[in-house]
Amino acid sequence: MRSLSLDDRERAVAGQLLVGFLDDYERSIPAPRIVPDVDRDALAALLRTPFPAHGVGVERLFAEIESTVVPNSTAIAHPRYLGYVLGPPNGIGPYAEAIAATLNQNCNLAQLSPAASVIERSVVAWLIGLFDMPDAAGGVITDGGSMANLIGIAAALVDRRSAFRAEGLQSGGPPLVLYTSEEAHRCIDKAAMLLGLGLDHLRRLPTDEEFRLDVDALRAEIVADRAAGREPFCVIATAGTVMTGAIDPLDALADLCAEEGLWLHVDGAFGALFVLAERLRDQLALCGRADSIALDPHKLLFAPLEAGCVLVRDRAALRRAFAVHASYAKGADDPLMVDYMDYGPQLSRGFKAFKIWCALRAFGTDAFRAAIDSSLDLADQLGERIDADPALELLAPVTTTAVCLRIPGADHQAALQTLLYDGTALLGPAEVRGRSGIRACVTNYRTTPGDVDLVADRLSELARPTAAVPLAGASGP
Ligand SMILES: *Cc1c(COP(=O)(O)O)cnc(C)c1O
Repeated sequence: MRSLSLDDRERAVAGQLLVGFLDDYERSIPAPRIVPDVDRDALAALLRTPFPAHGVGVERLFAEIESTVVPNSTAIAHPRYLGYVLGPPNGIGPYAEAIAATLNQNCNLAQLSPAASVIERSVVAWLIGLFDMPDAAGGVITDGGSMANLIGIAAALVDRRSAFRAEGLQSGGPPLVLYTSEEAHRCIDKAAMLLGLGLDHLRRLPTDEEFRLDVDALRAEIVADRAAGREPFCVIATAGTVMTGAIDPLDALADLCAEEGLWLHVDGAFGALFVLAERLRDQLALCGRADSIALDPHKLLFAPLEAGCVLVRDRAALRRAFAVHASYAKGADDPLMVDYMDYGPQLSRGFKAFKIWCALRAFGTDAFRAAIDSSLDLADQLGERIDADPALELLAPVTTTAVCLRIPGADHQAALQTLLYDGTALLGPAEVRGRSGIRACVTNYRTTPGDVDLVADRLSELARPTAAVPLAGASGP
C-alpha cells in the first residue's frame, strides 16, 4: 500500500508543477475573463466521480487541477475585480501558506507551537500599535471579520454579565440591548443571534447624510430602553460600512460610551486598516478608544483567505470570556508566549498569523501603506469621474474605497452582467437608502488609473444607450 508521504521523485515533480503553476498563474493576469465560463459538465463530473481506491498520483492530480479547478475559478487577481471588499492575495501568501501547512503548528497552546505563538503575538502587537492601545491590550487572529466581531461582542457580554458563562440565558435580569447603525454588516446580526441576545435587542439606528451613525438618535434610544426596564450594554460602531465605506463618529461614540458605561466595539473589518493611510490615520486611530476592534487582514493587508483579527483594550476580557481548563490541554505560564485557545472559541487552530507576518517582513509596512493609499486614490478618481458625468449619479460620498453609483433609468443587474461579460470589470450591486445601483470597491493593489478610466468610460457609455454602439463614441451629454 502506498504511503501518505511523497517519495523523492514525486517531491521533485510536485515541486516543479507547483512552481510552474504559480508562475503561469501570475503571467496569466489579467486573465481574459474575470468570472469563468463555467464548464458545468466538468463540474458535474467532478461531483459524480468517486474517489479512487488507488490514487491517481501527483502528475494526474495536477493535470486535473489545471483542467477543471483553475478554469472554473473566479480570477480574484484581475485588476478590475472590484466587486467586494476582497483584493488579490499578496505575492508571498501562497508560499507562506505552503510553509504553514508543512509546519502544521497547532496554535492552541504555546508549548505546542512556540515560534507560532510569538509570531501571532508580534502581528497582534503591531496591529495594537497602529491604534495606540494600552499595554494591557491583546488580541487573536481569527478566520475573518465575522468571527472577530462575535468574539468582541462575546467579551462585552461576559464583561457585563459575569454569570453568563455559568448560567447562559437562564441568568435572568433585564434584557441586554446592543446598538449599531442601519448600515452595519449582517455579521452583527449573526453575533446577536448566536450569543443569545436576540435580534429584537439589536437596535439599528439611523445614519446622517454621510451614512454615519446618528449619535443623538443613539442617546435617545439608550434613554428609552432604560426607561422601559432594559439594560443597554454595548455599542457597535462601524469603521468603513460595507456598502458606502462610511466611518462612524468614533470620538463622539467613545465619549458617549464612557459617560453611559457601555462597551464600545468597532467593526473595522473593512476600514480599520485605513489607519495605514496618512489621510485617514487620525480618524481611524480613534478606533483605539474602543474596548474591542474587529479587523480583517484578508481585506486591506491582502492576506489570502482567511485571516481576521480581534483586538481588545484589556486582554483579560478575552480570557474571562473564553479560557477553560481542560486536563488534556494544559498550558505553561510563559511570559513570552500566549495560549491562544484561551482567547477565542477555537481549540485546534491553524497558523494564520504566519502569512500576515511573512508579508509584513517580506514587503515592509510602507508597501502596504502605498497599496492602501493607491486604492484610496483610485476610488477618488472613480468618484470624480462619476460626479463629473451628468449621465451618472453618485449614491453616496466617496470617503474610503467604496463607490456607489446609479445609472438613472437603467436595469443595474443587467448593466452588471454586461460589464462582467464584456470583460470590463466585476462590480457589485448597491442598495443605498432603498435606491439600487452599482458598487465598485477599489480594494485591489493591481488596479491602475487606466483600469479606473476604462470602467468609468464604459459606465458612461452604458448610461447613453443610443451612443452605446459603437462602444467608443460617447462624449458629453
Ligand atoms: C467584510 C466585513 C465583515 C465580515 O468579515 P468577514 O471577514 O467576511 O467575516 C464585517 N463587517 C464589515 C464592515 C465588513 O466589510
